[in-house]
Amino acid sequence: MPFTLRAADGSDRSLTDDTMASLAARMRGPLIRDTDPGYEAERQIWNAMISRRPALIAQCSGTADVTTSVRFAADHGLLVSVRGGGHNIAGSALCDGGLMIDLSRMRAVHVDAGQRLAHVQGGALLGDVDHECQAHGLAVPTGINSTTGIGGLALGGGYGWLSRAFGHTVDNLLGAEVVTADGLLRRASATENPDLFWAIRGGGGNFGVVTEFTFRLHPVGPMILCGPVVHALEDAPTVLRAYREAVATLPDAATCWVVIRKAPPLPFLAPEHHGRPVVILVMVHAGPIEDATRVLAPLRGIGRPLGDGVGPNSYAGWQAAFDPLLTPGARNYWKSHDFSTFSDALIDHILSAIQNLPTDECEVFMAHLGGVAGRADPGAMAYAHRATQFTMNVHGRWQQPDQDQSCRGWVRSLYEKTAPLSEGSVYINFVPEAGETRSKGTFGANEPRLRRIKGQVDPANMFRANVQIQPEA
Ligand SMILES: Cc1cc2nc3c(=O)[nH]c(=O)nc-3n(C[C@H](O)[C@H](O)[C@H](O)COP(=O)(O)OP(=O)(O)OC[C@H]3O[C@@H](n4cnc5c(N)ncnc54)[C@H](O)[C@@H]3O)c2cc1C
Repeated sequence: MPFTLRAADGSDRSLTDDTMASLAARMRGPLIRDTDPGYEAERQIWNAMISRRPALIAQCSGTADVTTSVRFAADHGLLVSVRGGGHNIAGSALCDGGLMIDLSRMRAVHVDAGQRLAHVQGGALLGDVDHECQAHGLAVPTGINSTTGIGGLALGGGYGWLSRAFGHTVDNLLGAEVVTADGLLRRASATENPDLFWAIRGGGGNFGVVTEFTFRLHPVGPMILCGPVVHALEDAPTVLRAYREAVATLPDAATCWVVIRKAPPLPFLAPEHHGRPVVILVMVHAGPIEDATRVLAPLRGIGRPLGDGVGPNSYAGWQAAFDPLLTPGARNYWKSHDFSTFSDALIDHILSAIQNLPTDECEVFMAHLGGVAGRADPGAMAYAHRATQFTMNVHGRWQQPDQDQSCRGWVRSLYEKTAPLSEGSVYINFVPEAGETRSKGTFGANEPRLRRIKGQVDPANMFRANVQIQPEA
């Protein structure tokens, strides 16, 4: 019985039993067809809004399986997607009818503490990385949710609590092993395939499958001072203006993000505040605890908080602190802008939107960037947006399909109202749908070079299930 897969050109490919058996014989990990028991569980990703169905999932056990899968896709001209941690908001891990190259069995992390290096397989989650690195009191800057995949996060840029102190994830990427569209395994670093190395540091999954990353590590923790300070929404205009003043003079070791949402049942917050809209200043100091109390004091001293949950926490534990708010299986729609300033007009728009939260899970996140990450040369690698001081992510999150319209509408409304205040760029990892255009796009002035490199390493555009970089002919 022939097995049908979608080709990259949109037509169908019928593959014989012998062809499929020969693929299975060359793989160590399982091949799962869309008719197999267990398929539904294996195609699940974080965002329940996305329901694309790959015809075949190749669960790779290692680099050899990835090479085999890519060659198979190239030989048969198949539509391909690559799954790391499955967190991409647009669901780019999934393709309809094609081959999904699934890295979720490739999560090994090896730390060379002496050299301060981490070798991380392409399907590892952030929690895997922190777990191994923190055993040595070391860390690589990543994101704020322990179940996000390092693959998509690192290839897009990767920012979180340590970005101001040590740069983004891409700034700490020293090398990678990449299976390119021709099925060859290439080493990419400053000295080997330097163009490819430049491109994968911010160009997303457009250039091949990364089977292993090598990151530079920094001493962090194991205990750091961090946590949330919660304010009443009525105080928000004053609190946010004071916040803006306080972060302007923060040292690189510290960061403070703003989350505006209905209060979760935080243990240090009196029960009468749970479920009410609040402004949360979430602060982290990456350096020694002795310095941290003094550095964070101006932020903790703002106004009259409803509760202060700042204290010493293990770094690895803190990296999972937001996990309960970001569990998989909900319906999600995000829109994001980059800002160089947190203006009064921006504050007013956000606070107005918070009056009409469509569900208890919707929220506005304002990441505080700059610091070491902000001082890097925008042309040094594909990741371009170094002037960004704040990135707003409007998180629409809900459970029922009949809330799709109201929640998406709420997100889009705030996104559109704040667009004139933004820098006109967007972080590649926060783009929820294909085809959107902005004045400075996702790659800024780096786009022409990215297109040239894409034309060299993936001229037929095998790795297209991403924010697209069109190959230059
Ligand atoms: C709950 C949540 C929290 C987040 N927090 C942060 C944050 O704090 N900071 C931040 O910067 N971002 C954050 N993000 C965004 C995140 O960086 C992106 O969603 C990213 O795409 C996730 O990568 P993934 O491997 O989990 O996703 P996937 O959906 O598996 O992959 C995303 C894309 O990357 C490609 N890809 C993944 N792995 C590889 C690989 N090894 N080789 C080649 N291509 C690969 C895939 O083809 C796909 O196109 C968050 C997302 C979620 C859902």
